[in-house]
Amino acid sequence: MCLKNSVYPGFVYITEYHYSEDLKMAVPKKKKSKSRKRMHRSINMKMDLPQMTKCPECGGLTLPHRVCIHCGYYKGKLIVEVKKG
Ligand SMILES: [Zn+2]
Repeated sequence: MCLKNSVYPGFVYITEYHYSEDLKMAVPKKKKSKSRKRMHRSINMKMDLPQMTKCPECGGLTLPHRVCIHCGYYKGKLIVEVKKG
């Protein structure tokens, strides 16, 4: 930061020069288009599928540590009767 305009030693006046050159400010709302804003934020909007495991009973893909949605088995035991059709 520029200390040229200081009257007292150790005390820094913030002038227009400081605002324009030294301080990093937020981008004004109208300077960033909707498209660029959404492109920038899109990285947080991406959704991906949960990790799936293969059921040892039926071989279908199912969520880990949960009863299989295809056959109703968990750890080799029938937990839920799955209705067909
Ligand atoms: Zn299964």
